Amino acid sequence: MPFHITQECTACGDCVDMCPIEAIRVDDPIYVIEPECTDFMECLAFCEVDAIQPVPETEKESISTITPTANG
Ligand code: SF4
Repeated sequence: MPFHITQECTACGDCVDMCPIEAIRVDDPIYVIEPECTDFMECLAFCEVDAIQPVPETEKESISTITPTANG
């Protein structure tokens, strides 16, 4: 997952429909990008507060170890 959504997110939802693989979902209190994100980057142009940012190198290793559960 090369991108994540930062705390700047206002939960407007504008980016959700721009993802061709539906990798952005609402969470509490902001939106999140799922690990299946394939770096399509279509969503970036639709965030008016620039909340969609590359994942820092220091965080990539910990994110890649997250295993989805049956409950999502
Ligand atoms: S477009 Fe930006 S502010 Fe709106 S939900 Fe997506 S990440 Fe959050």
